Amino acid sequence: MRGIVWFRRDLRLHDQPALTAACQECDEIVPLFVFDEPLLQSDVFGPACVNFMLGCLRELASSLAARGVMLQWRRGEPVSTVVQVAQELKADVVYWNRDYEPAAIERDRQVQLALAERGIRTKTFKDHVVFEAEEIRSATGEPLQRYSAYRARWWAKWQATKPSPLTSPAFKVSTSVPSRSASRSLPSPIELGCDPVVPWIDPGERQAQMRLQEFLGKSVHVYGEGRNRPGIDGSSRLSPHFRFGTLSVRTAVHEALAALAKGGRVSRADVLTWIDELVWRDFFQQVLSAFPHVAKGPFRHVAVPPVREPGGERDRLFQAWREGQTGYPIVDAGMRQLNRTGWMPNRVRMIAASFLIKDLRLDWQSGERYFMSQLLDADVAANNGNWQWCAATGTDAMRGHRIFNPALQSKKFDPGGEYICLYVPELAKVSRKWIHEPHLMPVDEQTRAGCYIGRDYPAPLVDHRQAREEYLSLGKQRTAR
Ligand SMILES: Cc1cc2nc3c(=O)[nH]c(=O)nc-3n(C[C@H](O)[C@H](O)[C@H](O)COP(=O)(O)OP(=O)(O)OC[C@H]3O[C@@H](n4cnc5c(N)ncnc54)[C@H](O)[C@@H]3O)c2cc1C
Repeated sequence: MRGIVWFRRDLRLHDQPALTAACQECDEIVPLFVFDEPLLQSDVFGPACVNFMLGCLRELASSLAARGVMLQWRRGEPVSTVVQVAQELKADVVYWNRDYEPAAIERDRQVQLALAERGIRTKTFKDHVVFEAEEIRSATGEPLQRYSAYRARWWAKWQATKPSPLTSPAFKVSTSVPSRSASRSLPSPIELGCDPVVPWIDPGERQAQMRLQEFLGKSVHVYGEGRNRPGIDGSSRLSPHFRFGTLSVRTAVHEALAALAKGGRVSRADVLTWIDELVWRDFFQQVLSAFPHVAKGPFRHVAVPPVREPGGERDRLFQAWREGQTGYPIVDAGMRQLNRTGWMPNRVRMIAASFLIKDLRLDWQSGERYFMSQLLDADVAANNGNWQWCAATGTDAMRGHRIFNPALQSKKFDPGGEYICLYVPELAKVSRKWIHEPHLMPVDEQTRAGCYIGRDYPAPLVDHRQAREEYLSLGKQRTAR
């Protein structure tokens, strides 16, 4: 029997359910990757992602080649391409791991139908999450809308089932599969329509494993505090690996619990807090899966203040936010880091999102789209879930009209301003006292620091206190209606 393994967001050999099943059931397997042309041409898949993905694919291709199997790759519209390859190679079965984004679900449905019409079977597997939406439900069988309730059930299910990771499968080497693309190397970023950049986080399965071990051996012990400190290496930085599946989320949970079981200086609270973030990840995947309308708009229509009317002023504010020119150093550092590296720490993502929505009163979906186009870990479920959380429109949203004060956040989480100086170099000589609110610097301080506000660094785009009052007052008017 000949099986095709269609790799998508699972670019690894270890603990890979579709690949393992194909290796067990087939005499010959053909690994396939399809560069989705319509997706690559859209602005939702930015250069950071493309370059990271290519790095992962290069390693996958070489790991497969070392086992005598050639990764086949094609470019095109995925439905017709997969069907065509399956026919060309006379495949009996096509295997893949499930994806929960609405567009991916529709794509996979069409592939399944088209293959069935041609007598080719399909087998799909859970991989991207620890538990799928149907596995965690309320007592009445409904999807859960509150993270706290979801988390309690997730842990109960984990204790009851403890899903084990799979080991790397044994490959049966095939010599009869035509290798049309085997001798060709993978396309370059330029061929895929984007500039080559060295990914800020090293791609590939090996790097993912190394980073996981490094994190569990070190930073996880201070994770509770470290994750909020943008100036230090305080979180795992594994999200791009989870996004492209170079690391299995099951493996990550097992390894974290194993580190805890070993004892020593491991902090139980910190490890469990870290696993809880993976539960948030599963939670947002189940929200997208159970309520696909969130991908297009708010989960619920709540009385939030109106956004600015389209026009020149709105465009000016949005551009300044995107380019990191708001006059609020912590926001600007985050946005510039995002533009330069495809990365931003979670705390700064929350501050930048709150600033866009509440201080600038711009619609959260424009921020959501911009993050998708830039982030290395761009993921519809996590991105949408977090933006809706910040906008208070989501399932489990930030309560009330909570508004981050960017200067206070900055003083609390980047007290020495190290993170700010890394990405806003014009503030490098500004003293600690003024780094969080440089517009308050007296002129002689500006001279001393070689940074004049309005010339070298922008004055604040809006006054935070005034913007906050406006937002709250507009919110009250909406609620009173
Ligand atoms: C406005 C906004 C947009 C975001 N967009 C994305 C996105 O597109 N893709 C993405 O993976 N994360 C997104 N996040 C969540 C979070 O910022 C990143 O997952 C986290 O910063 C990744 O860093 P890490 O791997 O070091 O995480 P760690 O702190 O080490 O956490 C471990 C893993 O848990 C998951 N995780 C952590 N925090 C969250 C969270 N709040 N929601 C869901 N999963 C989480 C990630 O997979 C992460 O790799 C967003 C957050 C905000 C506020």
